[in-house]
Amino acid sequence: MATKLPETMRGQFLEAYKQPYQLCTVPIPEPSHPDDVLIRVDAASYCHTDYVLAEGQMPGFPNSFPHIGCHEFAGTIVSHSARPSPDAVRFKIGTRVGVTGRAFHACRECFECQGCKDPIAEDEKGYSVHCTRAENNGISKDGGFAEYAVVDSRQLAPIPDKLSAAETAPLMCAGITIYAALKRCQLGSGDRVAIMGAGGGLGHLGLQYATKMGFKVLGIDAADGPLSLARSLDTGARIIDARSEKAADVVQQLGVEDGKRDLGEKGVDAVIILPESQAAFDYGMTLLKSHGKCVVVSFPEAGFHMSSRDIVFRDISIIGSLVGSNRTLREMLNFSADHGIRAVAKSFPLSGLNTLVEDYHKGGGGKLVVDMSL
Ligand SMILES: [Zn+2]
Ligand SMILES: [Zn+2]
Repeated sequence: MATKLPETMRGQFLEAYKQPYQLCTVPIPEPSHPDDVLIRVDAASYCHTDYVLAEGQMPGFPNSFPHIGCHEFAGTIVSHSARPSPDAVRFKIGTRVGVTGRAFHACRECFECQGCKDPIAEDEKGYSVHCTRAENNGISKDGGFAEYAVVDSRQLAPIPDKLSAAETAPLMCAGITIYAALKRCQLGSGDRVAIMGAGGGLGHLGLQYATKMGFKVLGIDAADGPLSLARSLDTGARIIDARSEKAADVVQQLGVEDGKRDLGEKGVDAVIILPESQAAFDYGMTLLKSHGKCVVVSFPEAGFHMSSRDIVFRDISIIGSLVGSNRTLREMLNFSADHGIRAVAKSFPLSGLNTLVEDYHKGGGGKLVVDMSL
């Protein structure tokens, strides 16, 4: 067991939908399941889904109030359960780990856990991020906006030495999601990919991953703050303001650069849709070459309208991307450490979570992170 811990912790609680978080002091939770470990949370990052959940737009979640949000965080192992499983003891006390929202207590038995059909999300047999019976830290059950959290050792990734906790937390949902979406594009070196919403939390990480993966990258956005953030990264990606450059004109320019004559061979090989707007979806579809891939990550309440003609006559594939496997999670963290990939992040103390949320609504781009050392 661990070194002596305090008996209570501070946490930011959601007590009802559409209400600010409340800072409360409560007993520290105890790991009771053999796979569980207790971590001291070092950093916890805010995701759009935290907002969607708090607004009551995920019916049935959380399981109960009061609720501690945050499904992308990082911390240090401080204790195991009384009878830890082999998976749990692999993580020694003091190990720094990143925690994703999926999947807490994957059941080992359902069709997803027994054989995932998605190669990007496939893990060792017995564990699936798509498990139909699993819980999720920060969504169904408590997450990382607190000083301590109980997490499932099977969902963790060790943090590489080169990354701090505050650098790791924003990668645990935003980073893995955009990294996996890029893998789903199945591109080769030198292929072209466009990222719609390039200055947002996922997008600005996507610009960094995609250029380091060796692709020719277009980053598109339609707001001043995110555009300047995307430009400031200096990734070598071409940043486009969708308000002033039409997609059809961009396609023609790419055709000239690539020495292509026919319309169907001009444009990008894949596009990733991060914003919830129909205009962004339409812009991305226009950028695609014939036989291109449209990878959809956002899920607006009203859905997207898509042209059957694009799918039939231009042979565009439209595929969704939810998340990557824990194997991909570890690969993504190592890739981030090796290539110096970092979220542009603004940090807040735990007590400043409601100020963080206000900042989020200003829409400046990048990521907002609670840093427990502040
Ligand atoms: Zn998220
Ligand atoms: Zn399962």
